[in-house]
Amino acid sequence: MTRSVAVIGGGITGLAASRHLAYLSSDHDLSITVFEGEERLGGKISTSPFAGRAAVDEGPDAFLVRMPAAIDLTRSLGLGDQITAPTDARAAIWYDGLRSIPDGVLLGVPTSLLAIARSGLLSPVGLARAGLDLVLPRTPTAHDSIGHWVRTRFGDEVHDRLVDALVGSIYGADTDRFSLAAVPQIAALAGRGRSALLSGRSAMRTTPKSDGPIFAAPIGGLADLINALERDLAKHHGDRVRIITSSPVAEITADNGRWRVDGQAFDAVINAAPAAAAAEMMSGDIAETLRTLETCGVAMVTLAVPIADWPEHALGRSGYLVPKSVQRTVTAVSFASQKWAHLGGHDSVVLRVSLGRDGLDVLHLDDSALIDAAVAEVSMHLGTDLAPVESRVTRWPGAFTQYRPHHHTTISHIERGTGAGLVLAGSSYRGIGIPACVADGHRAAERTMSHLEESVSP
Ligand SMILES: Cc1cc2nc3c(=O)[nH]c(=O)nc-3n(C[C@H](O)[C@H](O)[C@H](O)COP(=O)(O)OP(=O)(O)OC[C@H]3O[C@@H](n4cnc5c(N)ncnc54)[C@H](O)[C@@H]3O)c2cc1C
Repeated sequence: MTRSVAVIGGGITGLAASRHLAYLSSDHDLSITVFEGEERLGGKISTSPFAGRAAVDEGPDAFLVRMPAAIDLTRSLGLGDQITAPTDARAAIWYDGLRSIPDGVLLGVPTSLLAIARSGLLSPVGLARAGLDLVLPRTPTAHDSIGHWVRTRFGDEVHDRLVDALVGSIYGADTDRFSLAAVPQIAALAGRGRSALLSGRSAMRTTPKSDGPIFAAPIGGLADLINALERDLAKHHGDRVRIITSSPVAEITADNGRWRVDGQAFDAVINAAPAAAAAEMMSGDIAETLRTLETCGVAMVTLAVPIADWPEHALGRSGYLVPKSVQRTVTAVSFASQKWAHLGGHDSVVLRVSLGRDGLDVLHLDDSALIDAAVAEVSMHLGTDLAPVESRVTRWPGAFTQYRPHHHTTISHIERGTGAGLVLAGSSYRGIGIPACVADGHRAAERTMSHLEESVSP
């Protein structure tokens, strides 16, 4: 008897889950139907031409290599020879001018007082306060708030100008309200020894140095990954995997050990839509808990400015982050054509300007207001009047789930309550970055396969 699985959501999580499930079930009689609500696949991964370049990402533009799920997937899809890495250009923090991110910080957590002193980012008082980490007793992590832990160990300046600037820009987060446990690199330092500075230093010494890049991406932009997944599913599993776009799912209900997706019966469901969308499809306690997962929306304004107008002091940099205490609407700026060699070599510089975060809503602004804000603030930061020759606005409502303190407890509760044969996966739950989403998609496929095998056992 043919068994059937519905995968809801054709973002990276849903597609990675579908491919892995197709692979795991190659000896089984299993059909997989992917329901994607939008016309296009990819979700938050979207790439399009801009300012004479064939492909400039509108959402994510790279993935971490250290967590191998995404790079392994890219290679396994035959894109190994198209993987590229950022240039050596260094990122900065804007605090009354661009200041290079000091060496020896782990996601902003200092491991050397000398390096942060040299960066000029902290005041003498802030620096002295950071040094107290060396003598303070161990800080309990029970609050599970990055802000609480960093402020206690190093004071407010390290929190605002380093950790919150770095971590906040990755997750659109207010790190005072973000789970420490959800950021493993910082959680590991917090759990290690008394002084975070010394723990970080020893972690840096003992972690084997990798020669390779930290981030990578296909040279054609991240949509290449989505296109390759779609092609791979069609080529190798086309007889068993059906992808239906423009097909938003409205309701999932349990039905006697099986599931109904908008009335259609399936043996199992992988719901890889964001939690807020998943909540709308479900009812009861789990739907209510899913609704408690807050998100923030962000806008990505992409600008091309004539290279002739580009200030010299911004050359050789990959971009910068803006600490909250000096933010208006812009939180981070990537100098995309300096970060990626293949986007350089034109008569314009491409900037990807991120606006908004948790607690700083910008999506009520119309496109021209977003562009005006981006141009005015970046001009102020760089001390020059930028006059873009091209601009593009991409809106990302619900871009980042905010992993509030004790997020993991909420997710365990959700997992226990979803019911056999239904797995929730994706960036709302166990990690926001693309590698975490791929890994979560694979995990969902494995759990689904186990469920299918168990549910036919006598
Ligand atoms: C601006 C921005 C920059 C980022 N930068 C990076 C980066 O550089 N590196 C990195 O690793 N990560 C980055 N991220 C995070 C990463 O892109 C996302 O976490 C990841 O792509 C999410 O994938 P997903 O498949 O879980 O969810 P999504 O991409 O949201 O996919 C979910 C899919 O479900 C569909 N869906 C929703 N409701 C329904 C429904 N009712 N029925 C059917 N389908 C439905 C949606 O249309 C969507 O296609 C960034 C995110 C943003 C927004």
